[in-house]
Amino acid sequence: MCFVRQRSGDAMVLTTYGRSSGFCIDPIEKKPLNHFFPGSSVLSFGTAGCNLACKFCQNWDISKSREMDRLMDVASPARIAAAAKANGCRSIAFTYNDPVIFAEYALDCAAAAHTAGVKTVAVTAGYIHAQPRREFYAAMDAANVDLKGFTEEFYFKQTGAHLAPVLETLEYICHATACWLEITTLLIPGHNDSDAELDAMTRWIAAHLGVDVPLHFTAFHPDYKMTDVAPTPPATLQRARHIGRANGLRYVYTGNVHDAEGGSTYCPACGTTLIVRDWYRILDYDLDAQGRCHACGGGIAGRFGAAAGSFGRRRIPVRIGA
Ligand code: SF4
Repeated sequence: MCFVRQRSGDAMVLTTYGRSSGFCIDPIEKKPLNHFFPGSSVLSFGTAGCNLACKFCQNWDISKSREMDRLMDVASPARIAAAAKANGCRSIAFTYNDPVIFAEYALDCAAAAHTAGVKTVAVTAGYIHAQPRREFYAAMDAANVDLKGFTEEFYFKQTGAHLAPVLETLEYICHATACWLEITTLLIPGHNDSDAELDAMTRWIAAHLGVDVPLHFTAFHPDYKMTDVAPTPPATLQRARHIGRANGLRYVYTGNVHDAEGGSTYCPACGTTLIVRDWYRILDYDLDAQGRCHACGGGIAGRFGAAAGSFGRRRIPVRIGA
């Protein structure tokens, strides 16, 4: 189903090792990660194929590609790490399709990145068995995991996967690793955006992961096999954010929209606005060098440098291969 694995002798091999669908330098806020070195840049790439089959996939030309000629850029892990370092990227991200499907390549790239002093980010659906999960997340400094809905029916009918293993992955990352975790839910009108489902989801996050895990609600646009559903109205994102905050979550964001209130970070102790964002741009940053609130000294969950980066909202394609 994934198109990129095959039996070779007695081994299961990855046919896309070392080949990428393209490299881009992005703002870290685009992954999205709002509490992992804000304002920094991240060298992002994916390969082809996926272990899910989401009908609403927004990257379906990559994740559903059977054509290896999409994989234009051939690059070794060492070359990727060196390119990240040379371009001033704080991290590299395995993204666009699910890195679980190219785990061997991602893990080798992660080792090369760490040798070069570059951090690693996984953008993933979190649908992975327990044994490879240990190895995979031991190599990641941060992850944004899609929690695509909160019913088994949605998962099975719309993604071909199951809800329970994804919840297990979230609990594993949160409680058994040093990997920084944020969660994204793409809200699809009429499919996963009811008050009841959002209430159940955000209660579960608060109870099982804690109130400090940032949650991003992002807007769907019609794509792939789901072209009969209208784009997500901004009001739906704001409604979801209010439900999450009412259930105690401290950092709930709206994404893919201009929404200064829903895109900003507030001190959970005194309410001061600490990071003002407009989409991927940071307009104001008021954390001290230890990542604490300037006004009251309260701590903010996440990984922060001495100051915010200044990469902005650019997207810079780069060629890395020979
Ligand atoms: S997990 Fe992501 S890349 Fe894979 S099919 Fe679903 S939306 Fe597409």
